[in-house]
Amino acid sequence: MTTPQHFTSLANAVCSLFGEGTKIETTSRISGGDINEAYGLTLTGGKCVFMKTNTRENLSFFTAEAEGLRAIARTKAIGTPQILGVGTDGDRGGRSFLLLEFIHGKSRGINDWEDFARRLSDMHRASTAGLVSNGKYGLDCDNYIGRRRQVNRGHDSWTGFFRDCRLEPQFQDAAPYFDGEDLKRIVRLLDHLDEMLVEPDYPSLLHGDLWGGNVIAGNDGSAWLIDPAVYVGHAEADLAMTELFGGFPPAFYDAYKEAAPLRPGYERRRDIYNLYHLLNHLNMFGRMYLSEVKRIVRRM
Ligand code: ADP
Repeated sequence: MTTPQHFTSLANAVCSLFGEGTKIETTSRISGGDINEAYGLTLTGGKCVFMKTNTRENLSFFTAEAEGLRAIARTKAIGTPQILGVGTDGDRGGRSFLLLEFIHGKSRGINDWEDFARRLSDMHRASTAGLVSNGKYGLDCDNYIGRRRQVNRGHDSWTGFFRDCRLEPQFQDAAPYFDGEDLKRIVRLLDHLDEMLVEPDYPSLLHGDLWGGNVIAGNDGSAWLIDPAVYVGHAEADLAMTELFGGFPPAFYDAYKEAAPLRPGYERRRDIYNLYHLLNHLNMFGRMYLSEVKRIVRRM
């Protein structure tokens, strides 16, 4: 590959984490992400590490991602890559980076979706103690959904949290896309959200961005979670997102529902939860997500 200009300084910063004499022997660009540049690095001695990099100003993408991975790891329910380092290189105008354990099994795919579903439901039932000081739902720090800031201010009500911290900020930024009739519908939807959503039986740690690209296979084919946007919320919001871009195999849904049965009316709530991600895509990538957003808003 062609070596990016910033690589010398970045390589020095990376190598200093692994001790004197360590060098990056090979570098290969990994595609698939929307936000950062990703690389597989082979270090002296053969160790493989995964690196994401962005501009120095975006270090908070990586500190937030690392916090999310740690929160998931603490549940001991599902594999997540070990965090090897997060920081910036020495130069002004330089780069920020996140170094993770390299997960190798991607091409073979996930071999047991039922096991993943049970583990996800275990993660959703794990204690959320210490994650939200001001309320039951949210998180003590903000993080990112894609490249946009995700506000996690604590709330005692799930519905209130989802309105104030999820739908409202996205609708505000997307307002220029809507005409007067749609804006009225949106106001009505937000005003009546507590009749449309339900409070959960227990607060859950959510992955927060659970589409297929963020579930990768480990060496043995088991599912590992990457690239989270964690917060404490209703588990069905995670399940909803799995259905948004293609869906997971039926075995996953059967096993998840067996482990954690869904309350009636899930399909309607699913579309409201997914409105958040569709609006986020509308705000990040533009109009191609508008018709789907309008379709849901008009149906509510
Ligand atoms: P972005 O932050 O830009 O969305 P991703 O987290 O989606 O980037 O990662 C980019 C690519 O790297 C994806 O193809 C993903 O499957 C792969 N990937 C992510 N984490 C690892 C890892 N720890 N080991 C191996 N590959 C990974």
